Amino acid sequence: MPGVRDRNESAWLLPNDGSRTNHRLRADMRRFADTDEIDLVIVGCGAGGSVLLQRLARAGWRVAALDAGPFWDPDADWVSDEAGSHRLYWTDPRVISGTDPVPMGSNNSGRGVGGSMVHYAGYTPRFHPSDFATLARDGVGADWPLAYPELRPYYEQIEQELPVAGERWPWGDPHGYPYRPHPVGGNGEIFLRGARALGIEARVGPVAIANGRFGNRPHCIYRGFCLQGCKVNAKASPLITHVPDALAHGAEVRADSMVTRIAIDRESGRALGVHYVRDGRERFQRAAMVAVAGYSIETPRLLLNSACSRFPDGVGNDFDQVGRYLMVQGAPQTAGRFDAEVRMYKAPPPEVSTEQFYETDPARDFRRGFSIQTVSPLPITWAEHVAAQGHWGGALREYMSDYVHWACLGALCEFLPQPGNRVTLAEEKDRYGLPVADFSYSQCDNDRAQAKAAQSVMEDILHAAGADEVITIQRYAHLVGGARMARDQYSGVVDQFCRSFAVPNLYITDGSVLPTQGAANPALTIMAVAARAAGHLAARAGR
Ligand SMILES: Cc1cc2nc3c(=O)[nH]c(=O)nc-3n(C[C@H](O)[C@H](O)[C@H](O)COP(=O)(O)OP(=O)(O)OC[C@H]3O[C@@H](n4cnc5c(N)ncnc54)[C@H](O)[C@@H]3O)c2cc1C
Ligand code: SF4
Repeated sequence: MPGVRDRNESAWLLPNDGSRTNHRLRADMRRFADTDEIDLVIVGCGAGGSVLLQRLARAGWRVAALDAGPFWDPDADWVSDEAGSHRLYWTDPRVISGTDPVPMGSNNSGRGVGGSMVHYAGYTPRFHPSDFATLARDGVGADWPLAYPELRPYYEQIEQELPVAGERWPWGDPHGYPYRPHPVGGNGEIFLRGARALGIEARVGPVAIANGRFGNRPHCIYRGFCLQGCKVNAKASPLITHVPDALAHGAEVRADSMVTRIAIDRESGRALGVHYVRDGRERFQRAAMVAVAGYSIETPRLLLNSACSRFPDGVGNDFDQVGRYLMVQGAPQTAGRFDAEVRMYKAPPPEVSTEQFYETDPARDFRRGFSIQTVSPLPITWAEHVAAQGHWGGALREYMSDYVHWACLGALCEFLPQPGNRVTLAEEKDRYGLPVADFSYSQCDNDRAQAKAAQSVMEDILHAAGADEVITIQRYAHLVGGARMARDQYSGVVDQFCRSFAVPNLYITDGSVLPTQGAANPALTIMAVAARAAGHLAARAGR
């Protein structure tokens, strides 16, 4: 494999003078006209979109990514303040329904160049080989149209490009990381102590956070503001890991451009380009190929909103697959109080974890499993945790003033994909006059049993570490699925290379293509899947 700098020079394209953004690169960026028929237009410049952009710019394609949000500048836009970071999230209206509706906002969305990863927590584990065949192995979920070894080289590439630091990983496909683990904060020490007392294996990492200098990106300074956007540029996000290299190779990133519809040719059924709104004006970008990477809710919504005479029920929705099998990880969160000060905020939020409970255990009353990680909420999120327990007024104040004494763990439970958990279009319209997404979500018995077991393990770990009080809340984490990859058009929307079954020049390269979600955080897998799709596209064009 060529050296990382030969494949992706982003970290060396950032300034080396104490500032965080290469303004010259942005000013000199290539700009295509709407009337140019470019090779590829990408909707969304987050985890999946940016990797595709960078890879195909390097392959010499004329490629542009349109993102609904701003082109962030870490110096000007990142504030080390929870409340001041609300502009980072997708806050347009959405309807939520089902028996267990999923609240939408800061915890599961992003808007702007870099996508949700500009304020993600930085944890980057791989999926396990078993995640790709849960139906065949465990009789639940779905089988991917590709197996783990086909993704492994792309995991390795992306781990070098972010880059990832962590201990050697014993679970799934055992592997090492390019950088050594970070020192452990107070929360992580408590996790390791409690786990050791119970005989549970735990490890430090993997985090996509520079551990030492990487190009012109400095070392992490452990201030714990990863979820507000890292002002230091130590934490990886596409804004600094893939976009600079894409620009240097002739790609355009068009910010503040909301794509409203994919245009489909009535005769050929092929994509012609995308309609979008910029500065209040409706515009149309022609392209030989379209890729959608707008995240699990907005991607299916765009396909449904692009209904036309060829696809009256939504683009690629001939077999009623668009929007289905949307998944969210169950994420119960358990906090424990300690007499000594913990100061859980002083480190990247997820730092230590265990995947010992990831796989199906025949001794338990559920299939598949969960992982457990440190989570370290900042004060406002901590107040939400305490208030969700019913504490208010004086009691809430007391918990808040005791903040530095608490440690906090979170589980990621592999809730199963179900056809009824889906995005449809609501009656309500957004500011562009487009129907908003209605996201219906209901848990199954397997999901509830998993979350209960995860809670019990977390409570045991904190008690074993010496906590004198333990409190748990139920919540959700990452979203994936909604336009899944499959072997055929009757059970999914795209093939193993993210190509639409219905529209030969339409691709989907974000988290919505994942058929299962594992109990691992998804960003690394989304980037690896997009890198694989890009490799396939470039090779096909070469042929
Ligand atoms: C608070 C938080 C913490 C997280 N922590 C972790 C973690 O530690 N580890 C991990 O692996 N994952 C984490 N995640 C999840 C991870 O960030 C996402 O899974 C990942 O970024 C999703 O990638 P994507 O390409 O599907 O979408 P995104 O990265 O969200 O990108 C989608 C982009 O599309 C744009 N867009 C959408 N619709 C349109 C449209 N119609 N027109 C133009 N642009 C559009 C959006 O503005 C956005 O920039 C976290 C997420 C959040 C919110
Ligand atoms: S803890 Fe490290 S990675 Fe997180 S915001 Fe601070 S410097 Fe960035």
